[in-house]
Amino acid sequence: MRKELKRRLQSQPALFFIILIACTALLTLFVQAYFPALSLEQSPVTVSERSHEALSPPQAHPLPSSLAQWQNSEDQGDYFSEISPTEFGYLVWSQFPVKLFVEPLENAPDPDRAHLWIDAVIQAVQEWNAYLPLEQVDSSEAANITIWRTVPPIEGFNRSADAAEGTDQAGDTRLPRIRSAETRYELFVDRPANAPTTLSHRFTIQLSPNQTADYIKATARHELGHALGIWGHSLVETDALYFSQVRNPPPISDRDMNTLKRIYEQPTQIGWEILAG
Ligand SMILES: [Zn+2]
Repeated sequence: MRKELKRRLQSQPALFFIILIACTALLTLFVQAYFPALSLEQSPVTVSERSHEALSPPQAHPLPSSLAQWQNSEDQGDYFSEISPTEFGYLVWSQFPVKLFVEPLENAPDPDRAHLWIDAVIQAVQEWNAYLPLEQVDSSEAANITIWRTVPPIEGFNRSADAAEGTDQAGDTRLPRIRSAETRYELFVDRPANAPTTLSHRFTIQLSPNQTADYIKATARHELGHALGIWGHSLVETDALYFSQVRNPPPISDRDMNTLKRIYEQPTQIGWEILAG
C-alpha cells in the first residue's frame, strides 16, 4: 500500500501543486492553471519513506449546518459542471471553522490603502461566513487560507491559457498583464500530533491593494469562492465567480451557493484520514 500511495503522489506532482491564477487585468479577471515542477519531496510536508499508508476511499463529508440549511433555488440552477475536481476529489473543507489569515497592517508602506484593503477583504470574508464557518487567525502558519496584500507576479501570465476551464480569452497574447489577484492551492499530508494523519490542502491568495475598495472586495469575494471550493468559473455575469470582472460586481448569488453546496456534497479523499497499511 505504501508503494501504491507513494507512486500515485510522485507520478502526479502536478495535482499536488496545481496553481490557479485568478487574474483581473484592466477589464478581465481570469484564471490560469499551471504546474510548477515541484516534487513531493520539496513540499513542506511529505509522505514518509517509512510509513505504510493508503488514502481512504472517496466519501462525502458532513455538511456544516450553515451550508446544509441552504435551500437550493431550483429556478436559478448552478454551474457545477464548470468545477474541476482534483484527482483526489473536490477541494472541500471538512474542519470548521476554516482558519483564515489576512495580512495585518504592520509595516505597511501606505497605511491608508492597507486599511482600505483590510476592511474590504474582511467584508468579503464575512459574506462567505454566512454559509461556511470561517475564523480569522493571527498566524499564517495556523491558517488554511492566507490572504496577502501584494500584487501578483506577472511571471505566471504565460504559463497556460487556462486549459482546464477554457475561459481565458487572453491566453494567446504575449503581453504581460497587470493582475489583481492570484489564488493557488497545494495538497499535503497533514500529521498533527494528536489527531489522525489526513490528506489536506491549503490556499494562498495574493490580492493587490491597487484597486478601488469595491473591486478589492469583489476580487476577495471571487478568490475566496475559489479557496472555499469553487474551483472553476461561472459563465453568468451575475455570479461572484463569473470569470471576468464586471462594472458592478455582484454579491454571492443563489447560483454560487447552489454550486458550493453541490461541491460539498461530493465524495472526496481530501480531508479524510490516511490509513495505516
Ligand atoms: Zn477566478
